[in-house]
Amino acid sequence: MTEPTHDEAHGGGLASRLNWLRAAVLGANDGIVSTAGLVVGVAGATDDRAALLTAGLAGLLAGSMSMAAGEYVSVSTQRDSEKAALALEKRELREQPEAELEELADLLEGRGLSREVAREAAVQLTERDALRAHARVELGIDPDELTNPWHAAGASFLAFTVGALLPLRLGAARTGRRCPADHGGRGVGDGGYVWGGGVAGSGGGLRVRRGGV
Ligand SMILES: [Zn+2]
Repeated sequence: MTEPTHDEAHGGGLASRLNWLRAAVLGANDGIVSTAGLVVGVAGATDDRAALLTAGLAGLLAGSMSMAAGEYVSVSTQRDSEKAALALEKRELREQPEAELEELADLLEGRGLSREVAREAAVQLTERDALRAHARVELGIDPDELTNPWHAAGASFLAFTVGALLPLRLGAARTGRRCPADHGGRGVGDGGYVWGGGVAGSGGGLRVRRGGV
């Protein structure tokens, strides 16, 4: 028997990491696919490497900023909703503490505790930090680890840029040789696989690659 290890992430830490990982996978996929489309399109129209690089870089900048802004706005909305739910919970705890205690006990009972244990646990949790207990059990959020829009925006920006550089480099390297459209897709997919594999594990990598091809 090996000793069970216990180093996996818990609660809010994992949730916030999943938040930026989701943004990164989305950004990388978008960076690869949209830039590959752009590069293949421009390469089909001209052999001029400078024109291709200019178009590709413009696409990279516009895309990475647009993705980052989109992530920032959408995750901010989520964060605002979490804050609003916490504020409501705070008010309920202040105005009707008994009903809230009952509610917490019911929720804990619903998670498999016996009535007595659920009630006792609810009392202890409420004494310690009522708002945190309700946030976690009732709302499923950690008041100290609200989703961070800057993390999602940063991850998205970086991932899009890295993803976009792959088809851009391949396109630039192959301009002027045989039909670039032949190479774009496959090379892009392979690059996406390498990048995605490093960041998101093989499952995520394969999915990003499939998006790239
Ligand atoms: Zn409550």
